[in-house]
Amino acid sequence: MTMKVEVIKKTKKMFKIEPNMKNYEKMVKKFSWKDAKKELEWFKGGKINAAYNAVDRHLKTWRKNKVALYWESDDDKKEFSFMELANESNKFANVLKGLGVKKAEHVFLFLPRVPELYISFLGILKTGAVAGTMFSAFGPSGIKDRLGDSEARIVVTNSELKNRIYKVKRQLPDLEHIIVIDEDKPKKKGEISYQKEMGKASENFKIRKMDPEDYAFMLYTSGTTGKPKGVMHAHLAILQEHITAKLVLDIHEKDVYWCTADPGWVTGVAYGILGSWSNGASTVVYSGRFNPDKWYSIIEKYHVSVWYSAPTAVRMLMAAGADIAKKYDLSSLRHMASVGEPLNPEPIRWSMKVFGVPFHDNWWQTEAGGIMIANYPCMDIRLGSMGKPVPGIKAAIIDEKGKKLGPNKEGRLAIKPPWPSMMRAIWKNKKKYNSYFEKGWYISGDRAYVDEDGYFWFVARDDDVIKTSGERVGPFEVESALVEHPAVIEAGVIGKPDKIRGEIIKAFVKLAKGYKPSAKLADELKIFVKKHLAGHAYPREIEFVKSLPKTRSGKIVRRILKARELGQPIGDTSTLQEA
Ligand code: ATP
Ligand code: MG
Repeated sequence: MTMKVEVIKKTKKMFKIEPNMKNYEKMVKKFSWKDAKKELEWFKGGKINAAYNAVDRHLKTWRKNKVALYWESDDDKKEFSFMELANESNKFANVLKGLGVKKAEHVFLFLPRVPELYISFLGILKTGAVAGTMFSAFGPSGIKDRLGDSEARIVVTNSELKNRIYKVKRQLPDLEHIIVIDEDKPKKKGEISYQKEMGKASENFKIRKMDPEDYAFMLYTSGTTGKPKGVMHAHLAILQEHITAKLVLDIHEKDVYWCTADPGWVTGVAYGILGSWSNGASTVVYSGRFNPDKWYSIIEKYHVSVWYSAPTAVRMLMAAGADIAKKYDLSSLRHMASVGEPLNPEPIRWSMKVFGVPFHDNWWQTEAGGIMIANYPCMDIRLGSMGKPVPGIKAAIIDEKGKKLGPNKEGRLAIKPPWPSMMRAIWKNKKKYNSYFEKGWYISGDRAYVDEDGYFWFVARDDDVIKTSGERVGPFEVESALVEHPAVIEAGVIGKPDKIRGEIIKAFVKLAKGYKPSAKLADELKIFVKKHLAGHAYPREIEFVKSLPKTRSGKIVRRILKARELGQPIGDTSTLQEA
């Protein structure tokens, strides 16, 4: 019951420069992870360090003095070359050494997107400790969950955010040191002044040579379906992050690259620090909030050529209108990608119109550690599809028994383990970790199907599938159909229990500027979906809302819509945006 498939054909003249991968099928045939390893730098005895590969190895090349980081906030800006980043992170590694940091110990970062966040992250990896990132909007309970569960002894933060840590400090017996980046002397027992210690620290540090399987960083998942889980990643993750930054994001030597994700989420680590710098790209970090004018001005000012963002951001840009985009010179953009949620066809069409370049959807998860399924510059886009597995990755649709399903059959999206950036553990939860694996497959928890030509199509998170009148309906399809209507900016769709039909489809709809809620408009939308999608898959109930509940990473949280609808407890809310 899919909508008619619309295709964006790729032709040579669409490329401003030749893509790193010229032919997907050929690359899949010849690709091996063993060969790919040659693109990284290894220490003797097969040892590695992801931070060294991201930054320090460039110091042997002309990139030494190239800008690695263009940083901008609302009232300040700074630049760091690869050499400066290497030196600063060495200094921070020395500061940690002075605090007796041990291999494999967890050091947490609770910072906005300031240069110190990037410097500390790299410094932690250089010592052999494990970096844990925490989004700066977390409140005391979110902080307590993460610092408590991870048993961190040290956290790096700033003078404003530290107060939130103090609110729960008594419940964190392992926490000894709070490193404060913007105070020149410690204010309380256990505090350390970043500035003071960095001022004394040497720029020379002997980077720890790690086993590729040693942990490098840990992240808690978005918590879209429940409590966030502490996902452990190894130094080897950078192999896949490097390769995919090259083949999927198509990062070239000359690119100025902007990843809008915060390092509090996996995208901001894998493609805001490791894989992107490993490819030698100049990276833009804007630390402020979303604002269409500001975002476009960043692209114009830094000549951003590769842009990696998320569907929620694209939909917000759309809502702001194409007229804003027209005020800026955005002609530097040559490749754009999106991750985090299904990318509806409408924003892709819109980006083609407004930027002359489509957003390329790709799929992966915190647990996957790197891009798994993607649309590539060299491959035609089927609008609404998340593309094909990354070379070196085997994905399939399987049934409840673990049997592989044929084309166009909806089932569980599964991956053949292992892959280089696969999580190595769920912190302190072996049972949870083991539950991901079944009959030789890694089970993603998402449902999808694959078409005759090998394109993967996302259907829903396992828990979000709606069962109505004996049919299974993915909310994404209904939401995509709704946003095709000019009145609709965003929609969240759930199954609402119904005596006769099992469930009925209910849609929560956010209207575009200039439209008012009315029973007439609701009816019009129902008919619109019926016509565009299928007779049985239209929302029988429509509720107009001012906003949809989202995680701080911008994902619509359908379980909250459902819990509210049914008057049930809404569960963990630490990763939610304030409504
Ligand atoms: P939790 O596991 O705690 O419930 P989460 O799954 O939202 O949270 P993440 O690891 O940040 O945490 O998100 C991965 C999920 O996001 C995927 O499993 C999938 O459901 C969704 N997702 C990511 N990219 C895409 C995409 N391109 N298309 C559709 N869904 C996507
Ligand atoms: Mg998940």
